[in-house]
Order: sequence, then structure tokens, then C-alpha cells
Amino acid sequence: MELRNVIAKDRDAIISSLVNLVRFRSLKASSDGPGAPFGRGIADALEHTLALAKSMGFQTRNVDGYAGHVEYGAGKDIVAVLVHLDVVPAGGEWTFAPFDGVISDGKIYGRGTEDNKGPAIASLYALKALKDTGIKLSKRIRIIFGCDEESGWDCMKHYLAAEELPSCGFAPDAMFPIIGSEKGIAHFDLSRKFGPPQGGGVWVKELRSGDRTNVIPATAVATVVVLPEKRAAVAEVARRFAQGKEKINVDVVEHGLDTLEIMLHGVAGHASLPHLAVNALTHMIVLLSSLDLAPGASSDFIRFFAENVGYDYHGTLMGVGLADEVSGKLTLNLGVMDLNEKGATAQIDIRYPVTCKFESVRGPIAERAAAAGLALDRADDKEPLYVPSDHELIQKLAKVYNAETGLKPEVISIGGGTYARAIPNAVAFGPVFPGQVELAHQKDEYMTIEDLMMLTRIYAHAMAELAV
Ligand SMILES: [Zn+2]
Repeated sequence: MELRNVIAKDRDAIISSLVNLVRFRSLKASSDGPGAPFGRGIADALEHTLALAKSMGFQTRNVDGYAGHVEYGAGKDIVAVLVHLDVVPAGGEWTFAPFDGVISDGKIYGRGTEDNKGPAIASLYALKALKDTGIKLSKRIRIIFGCDEESGWDCMKHYLAAEELPSCGFAPDAMFPIIGSEKGIAHFDLSRKFGPPQGGGVWVKELRSGDRTNVIPATAVATVVVLPEKRAAVAEVARRFAQGKEKINVDVVEHGLDTLEIMLHGVAGHASLPHLAVNALTHMIVLLSSLDLAPGASSDFIRFFAENVGYDYHGTLMGVGLADEVSGKLTLNLGVMDLNEKGATAQIDIRYPVTCKFESVRGPIAERAAAAGLALDRADDKEPLYVPSDHELIQKLAKVYNAETGLKPEVISIGGGTYARAIPNAVAFGPVFPGQVELAHQKDEYMTIEDLMMLTRIYAHAMAELAV
């Protein structure tokens, strides 16, 4: 029997398996003892999934609750399919309860249906289809279920330290057609200590914005102290700041005689996609630096970011405006700032092109920070991923994608980071189809039943292509 026929016969089981898996609240929590390093919810989801695989007749292994795998086939080499069972918190007002797995209008709703439980179930039933059709494999296939993808990746670190390294694979955790390159991800923390400024002018007493480096902040709040007779003029500048600008709002509240609270609202987004968001923090920096700031280190700190970041999210002002043909322009996100009377810290997320080196980003930032008297407290790097388009892995995935969907198998580049980076010769492959809206981490996340079936077919053929 053909793969597609076996998969069609499993349709009801595929749907109910995803519904059941969505019902596990696999949100990261503190450790719940041995076997549950990320809390009970995630450990239960892993145990449940491995038990389901076992009931299909597969060998499984639970690696201390950090990750687990299902294995099928024979041979020295391992083809890995990298998925994850942890999810981000539901957030927002959902039409259907996020952990119920409600089916409505051909869609399965719930947190994780797309990211990444749907692809995990599709991969499992794809492997079952290979087994049911009795296809002879010359390699082993392992579906690896990670449990900490959304935060620290401790799952893969632990798993790969304990297990054999796969020789190639794919991660169904981004989009189609094929993600041949993922930009390098660098994080920088900058800080400076200071006291209140001496002398006159506008004093920015406090500035708060953002909580995660890799998120574009939607709000920024500043407390500004100014001479009573000048306060109305400063308030007017702040209020006018949003005029003619899209998707930016300003609120100004007066406190006492000499204080203003300025609140800026933009549009949140992912650090790798700055053109889709409006960074409230960089707008606040530009607004504040346009005022007659009091001389002093806190004003210098604000001006440093106005001059070196401003509205420029491609890093040109910072001296890191890199680009290449494979992955396009570097992106820079000023994601967090916390400034008070004693000092200030700021966090920057940079996605640099795949042919560039971390040092060509770190170097200029370290130099400018030092020249401005800022400390560089952190400079982290996740190297880029780049698999050339003529690589056998990409050729095979392209062939399968085209055969199953009839669509053009283009190789694309993203700024996000997937599990594909965790092993050699791996790329992200699905699950979001071209033209579809990305629902990962959004409210009302869903997977259509037709897409779930299509994913199962694509992943079954991809596994067969890579492991025969
Ligand atoms: Zn994911």
C-alpha cells in the first residue's frame, strides 16, 4: 500500500491524537523532580507522546524528561526530525479555550496546534506510515521531542550530550518551502552607572521599556523632571511627537509642579521582523534626545542610543550595517531599557547575515560602547545556519515538497532560530505554507485538518527520501 493511503486511513487517529496532546498544559515551570526538569505539564506531554509511539510498535527513549525520541529503521546513520512539545503561555482572549483542542469549521484550535504539537503528531504518524507500508530503510529515523525549545534549549543540550549525533535532519518548526539559512543571533547588554545630572535642563529621571531582548517593545514610559515654567512647552513637544506618525500614540500626564510622565505606544513584534512592528523604545529615545537635556551621564546614555540606533533597525548607525545575498540585511532591535537615578541598562538583539562573522558585529559595538563609557556586560552569539541550495538534503526536501503540493520549492532565509541549528546538515521545513498567516505564539492558534494531513504526507515522503 502507498504512504498516502495508509495516512488517509489514520485520519481520525491523527486528529484525535493532536486534540489529546493539546490538552496537556505543557508550559515551562520549575523542576518537579527527576524526569520533570521543566515541570509536570511538559513531562506528562512527553510521557504521553512516547507511550503513543510505543503503542504503534516503536522503540522509544525518554532522556531524563529533557527530551525523548522515537526510533525506526536500521543502519549507522540517523535522520532526525526535530520537534518540540513545550508551548508558550496562551495570552489574549481566545474564541475557544486554548487547552481544550476544540474542532470547529475544519480547524483544530489550541495553543501548540501549529507550534509545535501539530507537526509533532504529523511526524509521528508519518513514521507509522513508513512502518505500516514496510518500506526498507538503510538509515534510522529518529523523531526527537524537545521539551524546552521556547526558552533555553536546555533540552537539546542535555539530549545531544547523552545521545548519538544525527547525521542530518529537518525541523518542522518554521515555514515552507525550505529554510536554507537562519541568521546569526547576537545579544548585547550595555550599562552605565551615574548619579543625577548637575545643572539645568530636562532630566530623564526614569525610563522603562521592554522585558525581552528578542521582542520589539510596544510601550515605553519615561518620567521627566523639568523647571515648572518650561514644563508646558516640553509636554507640548511630547504630545505633538505622534502627529503624522502611523501606529504611534503618546500620553502625557503631569505630576506635581515639575514632573511629566510620557507614555509611548507602538506595535510589538519579533526582533527578527522589525518592519512589521513599531518600536516604542526607539521612538521614546528619539523624542527625549530632541529635548534640551540636562548635561550629564544619563543624558549621554540616551543620546548614545539616539545617535547609534535611532529609527535604524538595520544597524547602519551602529556601524554594523551588514548584508549578503543569501540572507539580506542585518536587523537590530533595541529591546529593553531600564534607566533610573543610579544608572541604566539596555539590551540589543541582532540578527546578522549568514556569511558574516559574530566578531564583525561585536567589534564595532564594543568599540562604540567603550568610547561612550558604557560597559558591555554580555555579548552572546548563536552562529548562523547555512546549508547551500545544491546540498543533497535540500534537493531531496525540494523534490518531496513539489511532488506533494505542486508548489515551487524555493529555498528561503529567516532571522528566527530553530532546532535545525542544534545538529549538522539540518534545515527548517514547514509547517506554515506560503501565504498563510503565522499563528505561532498568537491567540486563536489553530491547525486545519487538511493541513495536518498534508503535513503528515510531506513528512512521510521526506523521511522516506532521506532514509531509504
Ligand atoms: Zn516552535
